[in-house]
Amino acid sequence: MPTASDILKQYFGYDRFRPGQGELVDAILSGRDTLGIMPTGAGKSVCYQVPALLLPGLTLVISPLISLMKDQVGALIEAGVPAACVNSAMSAESMHDVLALAAQGGYKLLYVAPERLTAPAFLAFARRVPVSMVTVDEAHCISQWGQDFRPSYLKILDFLAALPARPRVSAFTATATAAVRDDIVRALGLRDPFVLTTGFDRPNLYFAVERPSSKPNALLRLLAARAGKSGIVYCATRKAVDDVCDLLLAKNLPATRYHAGLSAEERQANQDAFLYDTKPIMVATNAFGMGIDKSNVSFVIHYNMPKDMESYYQEAGRAGRDGEPADCILLYSPQDVQTAQFLIEHSREAGEDADPQARQAQLARDYERLRCMTAYAVTTDCLRQYILRYFGEDAPRPCGHCGNCDADFEPVDATMDARKVLSCVYRLDERGLHFGQVVVAAVLTGGKSEQIKKFRLDTLSTYGIMRGQTAAGVRRLIDALLARDCLRADPARYNALFLTAAGNALMRGRDTFVIQMPRAKKPARGDARTPPAENEALFERLRALRASLAQQAHVPPYVIFSNATLADMAARQPDSHAALLAVRGVGEAKARRYGDAFLEAIRAYRRGQA
Ligand code: ADP
Ligand code: ZN
Repeated sequence: MPTASDILKQYFGYDRFRPGQGELVDAILSGRDTLGIMPTGAGKSVCYQVPALLLPGLTLVISPLISLMKDQVGALIEAGVPAACVNSAMSAESMHDVLALAAQGGYKLLYVAPERLTAPAFLAFARRVPVSMVTVDEAHCISQWGQDFRPSYLKILDFLAALPARPRVSAFTATATAAVRDDIVRALGLRDPFVLTTGFDRPNLYFAVERPSSKPNALLRLLAARAGKSGIVYCATRKAVDDVCDLLLAKNLPATRYHAGLSAEERQANQDAFLYDTKPIMVATNAFGMGIDKSNVSFVIHYNMPKDMESYYQEAGRAGRDGEPADCILLYSPQDVQTAQFLIEHSREAGEDADPQARQAQLARDYERLRCMTAYAVTTDCLRQYILRYFGEDAPRPCGHCGNCDADFEPVDATMDARKVLSCVYRLDERGLHFGQVVVAAVLTGGKSEQIKKFRLDTLSTYGIMRGQTAAGVRRLIDALLARDCLRADPARYNALFLTAAGNALMRGRDTFVIQMPRAKKPARGDARTPPAENEALFERLRALRASLAQQAHVPPYVIFSNATLADMAARQPDSHAALLAVRGVGEAKARRYGDAFLEAIRAYRRGQA
């Protein structure tokens, strides 16, 4: 009887489980219900795929998206695992065939959409065959508190109850606050589950925030430094996607686009172009990505700030799934906050008829999430530390490996300037006036705008007391005050600024306010990165070989081998099948199928070297 580690090696080509994977696999094999909460890219799939190969009967995997299922099944088949899926896009005939083969034990894993579970034909099938495990992927979709609630997930409980014997249930998700986690356990009826949350840290991701004066220029500069790499540029709106994609195309960059305004065919074609690396740059709204398991995404640039950290970390986390260094860069501008507010206010329309109190509470939660996201965008502290703390993890030390840790900041005592800003807000409040940061900064720097004339703001005692400083500089200071909760912006009143208790104390001289200011500009780490020079030529050869094999097999290149695997192969230069199997990510099925081609390429390369 092979062990779980044997299976991991044999089918997936990995020598050891990552932290958390082994525990989950053991819990599943011992017969327990399990819930695994792991960040994107941590490797959830093998946690149920390995047990599925060891358990006697069939494992049903409930998965929300057809594209996700197809990808997973395609990758499993490549790895030599008998797997299939049933979904609404199939003809009745082929569905019948798949189920018939499954009933004869032809598959170890069968992927199914939640809508299908309670269809009579499927139910009859599931009652007839020995189901060892039901796995629920993207389990947060069952929670009404989560961002991706899917009513059809609620049917899972009925489905389990309808089976002659209850199989063990395993559930997986990348996002789960405590409330969502409890919801998953309850709504799936998990029994005394083994719950494991692995660290949210993704050490190979490099986080950075920029606040460029021109986003288009900043983006072009970032892309120029990453020529030949694959990445995603996320924008907040369809229009922004179109504008940015057109800009890149005008500069002859290999970009494509994805948003809900495109036809289904175009979306599919563009997605494929990205997956197959014919267009390695994808410009998209957040509609793109769920179920995209492309492993060689080496950067995710946010052209706009998302509306919460959950979305940001999930989207950014699509970079570097292959474990290679990857960059997650947010291009922030204060305008993004308004766009996010607009999206929050208009995203709840479906819940419009919900009870107004519940809606109010929901809005308040959304605004609080947005506030935390904005604080990330403007903080000068360690970005990784900020992220980990947000998700409830200890992060005692700055990471030493993010844009802020690398930036050359120096502490500057800004207490006097901070007091000027706070007094200005205070004086406005005395007159019953509340304005956002643009107007407040204009008053302080002695500006002459319409508003200033109309409300006679030039008669305030704080008018012009920061003359000589730029309005942008003052707004930066206001951001810092917002981030430390000395000021609050009221989203229901066009982000008018209000003094908080902490702000009041600071204004009255009971505190000091120290901020980190950039000393000099260093190039971001990602811009200066050099390729692994020594084996670069071999790596490129192997990559070209992979591309042609992928084309023949009609699969995306990374399904054959990830970049990390090719890099390891280039470093080790195996000269036999046995040596090839020692390469990280080479399992038996792939060694059989592709081994000769790669070994030959390596031999040819070495002959050329000699
Ligand atoms: P998730 O679903 O958690 O986002 P995946 O299951 O897609 O992540 O796995 C992410 C990547 O990590 C894949 O390329 C996968 O092959 C790889 N991976 C998974 N487990 C291991 C392991 N034990 N060792 C090395 N790589 C692994
Ligand atoms: Zn850091």
